[in-house]
Amino acid sequence: MSASRFVVQLHDATTLHYDLRIEVGVGLGRVLRSWAVPKGPSLDPRVRRLAVPVEDHDLAAGDFEGVHEGQSRGSGAVIIWDEGPAEILRDEPGHMAFTAAGHKLDGGFALTRTGERRWILVKVRDDQAREGSDIVAERPRSVRTGRTWQDLAAAAADAAAADAAAADAAAADAAATHRPGA
Ligand code: MN
Repeated sequence: MSASRFVVQLHDATTLHYDLRIEVGVGLGRVLRSWAVPKGPSLDPRVRRLAVPVEDHDLAAGDFEGVHEGQSRGSGAVIIWDEGPAEILRDEPGHMAFTAAGHKLDGGFALTRTGERRWILVKVRDDQAREGSDIVAERPRSVRTGRTWQDLAAAAADAAAADAAAADAAAADAAATHRPGA
């Protein structure tokens, strides 16, 4: 067993998904091993959720909440949907078992590779399992700030509109100032 941390970030990118990241040791350093989970984690042990492995991220990535600017695949709003201590119970090629002690996720989880770039995330049957629960629908907000991803997206859109209005006003000022003969 090894002491670790986990974070789940809700990410409104090209498609909405949840980034599950678990801190692991690599050589002398630590990184966040990461999977994109389209439907998010579940506390119902009967539910199997697709988890697509993605590249490791540095530890700082797990603290990001905000809006990634631009048009790239990773752009869009991110909230820290859950986080907390974790304990890695097994870490082998194609299989990881861990316990999470988050605000929403609690108890054992298992990740198992079932194909090329295809893993399955399931809740272990334990005292924290909750059949019938849909935790991503029940608890949509950031555990750090209480915001939803829609709050962040709307604030970013407002800020962009304010920037555009300010740029327009500056351009109008400049045009008035530099009008020939004025
Ligand atoms: Mn993502």
